[in-house]
Amino acid sequence: MTDTERDHEHSTARARLSKCRRLIIKIGSKSLTGDAWDHFAAEVRAMRDARREVVIVSSGAIALGFQRLALRARPKDIAWLQASAAAGQSSLMRKWEDALSPHGLVAAQVLLTHADLADRTRTNNAQRALSALLEAGAVPIINENDAVAVEEIKFGDNDQLASMVVPLVGADLLMLLSDVEGLLDDRGRRVPFVKSIAREARHFAGGSKSGVGTGGMTSKLEAAHRATLAGANVVIAHARTQGIVGQVLAGDDTGTIFPAVHQRLSARKHWIAFTLRPRGALVLDRGATEAVAKNRSVLAVGVVGVRGSFQVGDSVSLVTAENVEIARGLVRLSAVDAARACGRRTEDGRSEELVSRDDLVVLPEE
Ligand code: GLU
Repeated sequence: MTDTERDHEHSTARARLSKCRRLIIKIGSKSLTGDAWDHFAAEVRAMRDARREVVIVSSGAIALGFQRLALRARPKDIAWLQASAAAGQSSLMRKWEDALSPHGLVAAQVLLTHADLADRTRTNNAQRALSALLEAGAVPIINENDAVAVEEIKFGDNDQLASMVVPLVGADLLMLLSDVEGLLDDRGRRVPFVKSIAREARHFAGGSKSGVGTGGMTSKLEAAHRATLAGANVVIAHARTQGIVGQVLAGDDTGTIFPAVHQRLSARKHWIAFTLRPRGALVLDRGATEAVAKNRSVLAVGVVGVRGSFQVGDSVSLVTAENVEIARGLVRLSAVDAARACGRRTEDGRSEELVSRDDLVVLPEE
């Protein structure tokens, strides 16, 4: 691609943002201090006046909570982190309510755990609740339910949570706002436009961790990748830039934009690929690898190995003989039964279907 073509694609992608109707604004802990809530509330009001719907993914519970509990620094121990989140979440919501209500806006707290979203019924319930809140004109303020989430069932961080909320609300824009002005290249210059995260961005992500928040650039890129596959445009930008939300929607060249992919994954396929955590793996022979790459079902005859201890309906990784993960899917047999069936045909010459093509997602290039 020539520089001119690239500039053209960049400006087209920016201009397209003005059409976005449903946006998720994720704000990091370090950016929620002082009067930040008031600034964002004014921006939400402006968005609503322009007939756009806004969902906020707000960090800050732990940061506010450990101070309330008079701890000197953010704790490391999980129970103390949970305690801090419990003490801080109510303050966090009060701050959002105080900021939003002068604008005539109602804040509605939604706390999610990974276990909620790993369950299809609970995901559907969360989806319906969020859509009712938006219809009622409220502003959903989502955070992880840290008080009950232990390490194994955590989203990772709120960047990941925000990316999983994208298919849930059908957002067309995700803004990841924090204390970085965007993705920076190896000379510290902002990268304004990223078309392919795999080819153009990953090697720049050094990761900027600090004392209060959790997500670094690597996590933001991962979240951006997942959100673009769910059909949202993503912008990583600096939370402290005055009027940042309005600027992004106006198409200003600020932060880093990652345009939505043309062919997005359905909400269910996105859920299989990115929300569920694989409980094991099926190792495929060459023929099955080629079939899966073409989105065909996995038959027992093409499976040469079974790893992990999964049950019927769990998510499994589909890996090549070289151990490269090429797809994920919901498995139709338990690990024990799959191990028994693999490499075989039944007496009448059929081969059992281990993963149906309807439950299979070929992973896009990372
Ligand atoms: N859920 C955490 C909090 O509210 C923050 C996690 C994150 O920022 O990634 O404090």
